[in-house]
Amino acid sequence: MGKPKCNSLQNINCQVPSFIKGNDFFQIFNHLVSISIQGYDENRRVIYWNKASEELYGYSAIEAMGQKMEDLIIPDPIRENVIIAHQQWVRQGISIPSAEITLRCADNSLVDVFSNHIMYSNEVNEKQMYCIDINLSSFKRVEAQAQQKELLLQTVFKAVPDLFFLMDHNTVILDYYADIKNILHIKPEMFMGKSMLDVLPENAADLFKQNIDSLSKNHGLKTFEYQLEVPIGFRVFEARLSQLPNNQIAAIIRDVTDKKVAEERILHQAHYDSLTDLPNRFLALDRLAELLVKAQRNNDKVAVLFLDLDDFKKINDTLGHEIGDKLLMESAERLRTALRNEDTVGRLGGDEFIILLKGILDASDTLPITENLLKKFREPFKIDGRELILTVSVGISVYPEDGRTPSQLLRNADAAMYQAKALGRNTYSFFTEAMNIDISRNLNLEEQIRGALERREFEVYYQPQIDVDSGRIIGAEALLRWHNQTLGNVSPVEFIPVAEKTGLIVPIGEFVLKQALSLLSQWQKSYDCRLRMAVNLSPRQFRDPELINFVKNALNEANISASSLELEITEGVLMIGHSYIDEALSALAELGVLLSMDDFGTGYSSLSYLRQYSFDVLKVDRSFISGIADDSADRNLVNAAISMAHSLGMKVVAEGVETEEQMYILEELNCDYVQGFLFSKPLPVKELYKFSANFKNTS
Ligand code: C2E
Ligand code: MG
Ligand code: MG
Repeated sequence: MGKPKCNSLQNINCQVPSFIKGNDFFQIFNHLVSISIQGYDENRRVIYWNKASEELYGYSAIEAMGQKMEDLIIPDPIRENVIIAHQQWVRQGISIPSAEITLRCADNSLVDVFSNHIMYSNEVNEKQMYCIDINLSSFKRVEAQAQQKELLLQTVFKAVPDLFFLMDHNTVILDYYADIKNILHIKPEMFMGKSMLDVLPENAADLFKQNIDSLSKNHGLKTFEYQLEVPIGFRVFEARLSQLPNNQIAAIIRDVTDKKVAEERILHQAHYDSLTDLPNRFLALDRLAELLVKAQRNNDKVAVLFLDLDDFKKINDTLGHEIGDKLLMESAERLRTALRNEDTVGRLGGDEFIILLKGILDASDTLPITENLLKKFREPFKIDGRELILTVSVGISVYPEDGRTPSQLLRNADAAMYQAKALGRNTYSFFTEAMNIDISRNLNLEEQIRGALERREFEVYYQPQIDVDSGRIIGAEALLRWHNQTLGNVSPVEFIPVAEKTGLIVPIGEFVLKQALSLLSQWQKSYDCRLRMAVNLSPRQFRDPELINFVKNALNEANISASSLELEITEGVLMIGHSYIDEALSALAELGVLLSMDDFGTGYSSLSYLRQYSFDVLKVDRSFISGIADDSADRNLVNAAISMAHSLGMKVVAEGVETEEQMYILEELNCDYVQGFLFSKPLPVKELYKFSANFKNTS
């Protein structure tokens, strides 16, 4: 057992053989890479242990010096072999080859090293072995990482459906990666060593060239699309070019045909109506916006036609949506064929279509086109073996006079379309400013009528009705008045339809009935207990399931007998044709309330209605009464109406009697009652009392 020859680092260094000491490479290497160098004597005791050995194996030089190699760093499984190999070298000169081996550290962990061995005889011919060990674990880690990276890349390459090309700065293809499902549908190895610009057809090559040329301007990145005919047909590819630090160019190519098709489909769905395949509201208005810009530049006009199919809802409701859909598709086709190629026809939704006509010089230029459209609809539609007649109403607005923005023009064409409907449908109407005034007036009315009841803006006026024979007041008609702060006094002709539309007619109607009955109760007490009250009922009030109960309760509350109340309805109510109207009318008749047909002569004046329902009173409209003195036709008509009513057991009220002459004729014609300015305008309560008091006095 030899003793350590030195025990300090300084001394250890003294033991460094001259070949190591003098070898610059080793010195530098030792320094830089921290190679572990250990020296052993003939008995494998440590005579040299450098700093890197301390770090690698965990023994300090002091701890290691004099210890046997196999006790320090040789793991048990190779202990015997190492000892034998060393002895064979010392005794027989059989050198130990350099090798990767696993050695043991002070903490018993194992470390892979690449070990080099040098046998060296010192001055006194003692054999010394120097081991130069390079720690492989960091190399191993890097290697493992590299392998993993490679694997990762392989997986990524496989997962993404891309084709990779590596090109030099002259577009010569140096390398590639292609999946088995090669997106080019040809073998990319054919391209190796060739210029990308030579292997692509001219169009695509030009695009590649342009983009490669501008790479440096675009921070080394460029993306573009090109089309290529490959064995399965024309495909769209997306190329992403990126300039690498060594000036090489990486191209990543992807087949984006399916994505493009899907994108286009989505785009189409967003812009076209799925039923008719016409541009939808969004696209149509977008096109209108474009047309307006051009029209402004060219100083010409654009016409917007708003079309609405007449009574389409009825067809849809009665014949079903399937037929409705077919009608819409056929309508779209008719519109398309009636127009020039450059005109746009779109579907706004439901049964509403829009047509945009450009290059119009005068609004009247739209007439032949509109006439043609209407004509197209005159032919019956043949759907599922049926022949259906479907007409269309058209509203026209023209840029710039009727609006400067798409939404203004659309709104105004819509207003004009309503006018066309009001004119009897199956026709067209041009927008006029008056329509706009109507619209804004209606909006105002709608806004103001809400809360009008709560603000106590309504007042019921009463127009007395006179018995022709006796000259006695038989009662009055309750007529509503609205005094509004912003709108002033509004006529019922104007606000009743608004109240109808908003549904407010129900509470308003209840208010009128209550007021009228409470007045009647007072009036009967103070004037004549036979007096009766006529109250107008709107169609909408019949839809109120509480109507009958309300009337009953109101009569009870006011202590008025049902026969003193006369409810006036117009033919419009009967024309709705719903069973609830019949039921309500029967229930009212059963209650004992009198029913009166108002405005007779202005609607269909259908005799069948008069026969079908038990009306007690017929009110001949003012428009006929005003003509009876001068127009024999009017007089004949009134005469016939009175005779007919009498034959059906009805009493007749003549409305709007203004002159003595009219009164005289009505008397001649046996009219029962009269109502009109000749006697009195509709009056507020106080005035009515005054009037009746005076009337009593004078009659
Ligand atoms: P209506 O029921 O036919 O009422 C008769 C209308 O003729 C009243 O107009 C009345 O003021 C007017 N009138 C009466 N005599 C003459 C006359 O000699 N000359 C002229 N030029 N006009 C005369 P008003 O009060 O403007 O009411 C118009 C319409 O509004 C009524 O027509 C009625 O349909 C409706 N209306 C009025 N009040 C109510 C109500 O409380 N409820 C419902 N649902 N409708 C009402
Ligand atoms: Mg009336
Ligand atoms: Mg009337």
